Amino acid sequence: MEMILRCCRTCARPFSDRASWRSRQISESLRYCSAGCRRTKPTQRDRALEQRVLDALAVADAHVELKELQEALKLQATPDKTRLERAVKRLALRGALQIWRNGRVEVEPGNARKPFSVALAGSKREA
Ligand SMILES: [Zn+2]
Repeated sequence: MEMILRCCRTCARPFSDRASWRSRQISESLRYCSAGCRRTKPTQRDRALEQRVLDALAVADAHVELKELQEALKLQATPDKTRLERAVKRLALRGALQIWRNGRVEVEPGNARKPFSVALAGSKREA
């Protein structure tokens, strides 16, 4: 039986798409890992935040700890931190940046555990 691994469009976590056995149609429900992620799907504000992350990393030109990114973008309240973390993970899933932990790139960014650092793809300098 076919199991398709999808990544959530909100939090970037991989999840198995069991519903595809029954229907080939890609419905809204197959894009998100949970009802919570479906409710908090990325908005224009989140897309703008993704761009701010890329801009900040381009300026830094090095690995930046997630905590430093929170400070630089002034996103230190809990809901803002969650938005930032999800933005970073979505960007990593798209290959726009890399999440580093213990000296290695996370191959499943949606499952990356904190603390981690981030760098633009191709950036070699350690912070
Ligand atoms: Zn999710």
